[in-house]
Order: sequence, then structure tokens, then C-alpha cells
Amino acid sequence: MAFRLSERSIRRLAGVHPRLVALVKEAAALTPVDFMVTEGLRTADRQAALVRAGASRTRNSRHLTGHAVDVAALVDGQVRWDWPLYPRIAAAFKAAAARQGTPIVWGGDWPRLRDGPHFELDRKAFP
Ligand SMILES: [Zn+2]
Repeated sequence: MAFRLSERSIRRLAGVHPRLVALVKEAAALTPVDFMVTEGLRTADRQAALVRAGASRTRNSRHLTGHAVDVAALVDGQVRWDWPLYPRIAAAFKAAAARQGTPIVWGGDWPRLRDGPHFELDRKAFP
């Protein structure tokens, strides 16, 4: 059951690091739960607005440099935020990361303010 990224998702990967783009594409082929890309590269203004709104805790987001993407789970073409869907998507990202030798961090593994939709290239390998 391989999914394909929509044209809209592919457009939202503009400006994202090519290693992360490759990962998202392979994750889409591997995941048991379909997903769309909701955000990739982010402007400093938008990041500041997210921090003010409490939706982000850092002004040093990996989205600012194209090292992070956010996804939304799709079930039958509808966006779903049910938590159990996200570890399944993350498993596909982690499998793709292992295959491509691209270290990533999943926001769902953060001990505080876990962020299931968020994936970023590991700062240790991609400063
Ligand atoms: Zn994010």
C-alpha cells in the first residue's frame, strides 16, 4: 500500500533540504497511514507569530532553515489529528531515514511538548 505525495505537498517542500525531501518521499511510499505536508520552510515573521501564539516554543526553529517539515495524517483523504496515527507515520520516516542514512528527529519523541506532525534533520549531522 504505497501512497504518493500530492502536488500540493510537493510544492510545500520548496526550499526544504534535499535530504529531507528525499526522506519525505520515501516515507510516503512506506507509510501505512497516508499524510500530507502542511509546512516546510517558514519565514522569521511566521515563526515569531507562532511563538507569540504558543504554537512553537523556539525562535530557532528548524523550519527557518529548511531542516524541518510538518505533516498531517490523512484517512480517506481527510486530515486527522488522532495521536495513534502519528507514531505509524513516524515509523515510516524512521525506516526511510535508516535506509537513506539520514539521521532525523521526530517531534513525537520529545519529552516535553511532543509534536507528532514534526520531523527534522538531526542537528548533530545537519547543523
Ligand atoms: Zn514543525
